[in-house]
Amino acid sequence: MTITEELINKINVCTKCSLHKGRTHAVPGEGSYNAEIMFIGEGPGRDEDLQGKPFVGASGKLLTELIKSIGLSRDDVFIANVVKCRPPENRDPLPEEIAACWPYLDQQVRIIKPLLIVTLGKHSMGRFLPGLKISDVHGQPKRAKGIFNERQVYLPLYHPAVALYDPRKKDILFEDFKKIPLILKQIKKSKNDIQ
Ligand code: SF4
Repeated sequence: MTITEELINKINVCTKCSLHKGRTHAVPGEGSYNAEIMFIGEGPGRDEDLQGKPFVGASGKLLTELIKSIGLSRDDVFIANVVKCRPPENRDPLPEEIAACWPYLDQQVRIIKPLLIVTLGKHSMGRFLPGLKISDVHGQPKRAKGIFNERQVYLPLYHPAVALYDPRKKDILFEDFKKIPLILKQIKKSKNDIQ
């Protein structure tokens, strides 16, 4: 069994926090383990819980569209969430649930070693870039301490679910996504203009 299969199996039977009680399926995440970009959302919703896959409902459809808009497919990237089981009624994950689930995401990031971590929504951003306000920093790449390096590049974006009900945020998301290819290019050239 590979390390990734082992991790998925562990997540699927995990009972480390109370979210396991209400789940149909855990949602470990999916995509390429060689991905340059990791998208990290907050937690699974109803459709994700039913299918055991991340971002497959309405907001997932939008995320897929956004990924395609920069010439990539879901198979080129890795998509995961901060918590792997659905919070009841889609409430925000509690700090103790995020803490209990963190080692799984930590291990995924260590395996994938992405060049860029794109956080989707304020809870995901808060885990990596604490103290920032998403309305101030969305679409601005930030360097900060990472899981496997000291100078990880993060791109905080609005969560696609927010954009479903707010056409202005949807436009902002597409605009922010357009920056991803250039940010990747800058990272590969080791340019230091990302602070
Ligand atoms: S949310 Fe994470 S820690 Fe909690 S039961 Fe699910 S996999 Fe385990």
